[in-house]
Amino acid sequence: MENLLNHIIKTNKKYANYGQVASYIPELRKSNAEDLGICIIDKNNKIYCAGDYKTKFTIQSVSKTIILAMALMDNDWSYVFSKVGMEPSGDPFNSIMKLETDDTTKPCNPMINAGAIVTTSLIKGDSLKEKEERMLSFFRKISKNENLNINKAVYESEKLTGDRNRAMAYLLKNDGVIAGDVDEILDLYFKQCSIEVDAVDLARIGLLFANYGVDIETGERVLSESVSRMVKTFMVTCGMYDSSGEFAIKVGIPAKSGVGGGVMASVPKKMGIGVYGPSLDKKGNSIAGIKVLEDLSKQLELSIF
Ligand code: GLU
Repeated sequence: MENLLNHIIKTNKKYANYGQVASYIPELRKSNAEDLGICIIDKNNKIYCAGDYKTKFTIQSVSKTIILAMALMDNDWSYVFSKVGMEPSGDPFNSIMKLETDDTTKPCNPMINAGAIVTTSLIKGDSLKEKEERMLSFFRKISKNENLNINKAVYESEKLTGDRNRAMAYLLKNDGVIAGDVDEILDLYFKQCSIEVDAVDLARIGLLFANYGVDIETGERVLSESVSRMVKTFMVTCGMYDSSGEFAIKVGIPAKSGVGGGVMASVPKKMGIGVYGPSLDKKGNSIAGIKVLEDLSKQLELSIF
């Protein structure tokens, strides 16, 4: 397996040249576009890694899967889905358009920014501090990494430049889709996006979703089966921005990417996969990371379809 992973990383490194690291969050410009790494953790808890799997990056939109799971555990599902939809948007992740033009003011799904701001607003806690602590401790638990933390520089950078998210959040508040203090909701959203991980952390979290919410080592049920199923379904339909359809055809694995260059993939009942490659295509997906997953899926016949 390690030989296969090394080979896949080596042959796909060149694709980084055809993309660019995210620059709209200034701090993300500092990533090394050439980096490419992968980690797989299988259902026997075997860990296989190659390339830059130890490099740290911010989780960005991959966090939307975890926050969705938290929102579904903290609230009635019918309440959650009265505030955010279940349909792919077909628009860029940060689009504001459909909030005004659709016949409903609720965001299409929880994987786009507007929808994720809604799920973040549904996290329970008496204060922002308590919500932040609950969030961080949940991320630490499911990644089995007590050292996970917020990258302060990225958080500050997002906060400084996040006016588009701010605009969306105020519109959502105006339309009664979110309630409470908008700045606090956004603060929590910027923090969740700025949690620093590596490919191993993403593989570990991906494995939990792949294993329907049961911790492979301890047998503890961390998430309900239905929540794990819902999150994986959103990963298939909306996880890879507006190229989720093409990704489903070419790779066929539930996956979620982020503009930090991470991709988390969950092969049901088989494995969790974390990929890192910060050079992005025009849609915001890791350009080489997608190629890596495409090759891996072909070689190991991982498509769920
Ligand atoms: N923090 C980023 C934003 O809100 C996340 C975007 C992403 O990874 O898709 O723009």
